Amino acid sequence: MTAMLALEELTVRYNGQPALERVTLHVPHGAQVAIVGPNGAGKSTLFKAMVGLLRPQHGHVLVHGRPPGDQTDPVAYVPQREEIDWRFPVTVADVVMMGRYGRLGAVRRPQAADREAVARALDELSIAHLARRPIGELSGGQQQRVFLARALAQEPHVLLLDEPFTGVDASAKEALLGLLEVLRGEDITVLVSTHDMNTAATRFELAALLNQRLIAYGPPAEVFTPAHIGEAYGGQALFVGDMVVVDQCCPGHVGDGIAHRHSHTGEEKAP
Ligand code: ADP
Ligand code: MG
Repeated sequence: MTAMLALEELTVRYNGQPALERVTLHVPHGAQVAIVGPNGAGKSTLFKAMVGLLRPQHGHVLVHGRPPGDQTDPVAYVPQREEIDWRFPVTVADVVMMGRYGRLGAVRRPQAADREAVARALDELSIAHLARRPIGELSGGQQQRVFLARALAQEPHVLLLDEPFTGVDASAKEALLGLLEVLRGEDITVLVSTHDMNTAATRFELAALLNQRLIAYGPPAEVFTPAHIGEAYGGQALFVGDMVVVDQCCPGHVGDGIAHRHSHTGEEKAP
């Protein structure tokens, strides 16, 4: 069986500093995969390389056997909240219509089919009543639904969601997990990055543990073993019986987490 998404030996560096190191990952058609790793693990970098926003130094990405950016096989990407400029003065309907731009014909003007796709996406996310509102005025959960609607309006084969559970409340998170259930029936391949290991372990059939390298990939029970978690999180992971507590408090202060606080050395580790 050919993989829907194939990453082969993907290596990305920023100014010579490695962010991803020879990551090889094959995702079958229709699968839903949680990409888990600490801050700075390279999750966002992985997604940007998958949509062709970043060019890898080594290796490649193939979607249905083709390089990213091929319009006949759309990959929809919802960036992490912090990467979106919420002051941009556009309405909800405008944002969702942006999902159709890759499909607009030579006329570059939305046709009936585009307006229908937008209306369907607004309905699917229950935000049709917000269509005329500027996105900057909405709550975090509503804004997330707008960007999900934009992604669905694209009628994607692959959907990449970068940290969608971060900064939204429990009900928005459940709504999103419900949407993923619906998408499972629609044969859309989904990758979701998160540092929420519990959600990854209980709500996804496949998980990938990443920290620059791919540490483990497969069914969650085989991925989230103490050995793998320790490798991915180092001193940030604390095991309490069956539970693992991961300190995500201070990006840039890897090693200054729970394990360090309990060690009483008082020494600052280099970041
Ligand atoms: P994650 O999404 O898992 O938190 P990222 O992919 O954002 O990780 O970042 C991976 C590494 O690459 C981090 O060390 C980060 O500081 C670095 N990085 C990310 N984007 C840039 C950039 N535009 N320029 C330089 N370094 C970057
Ligand atoms: Mg990120």
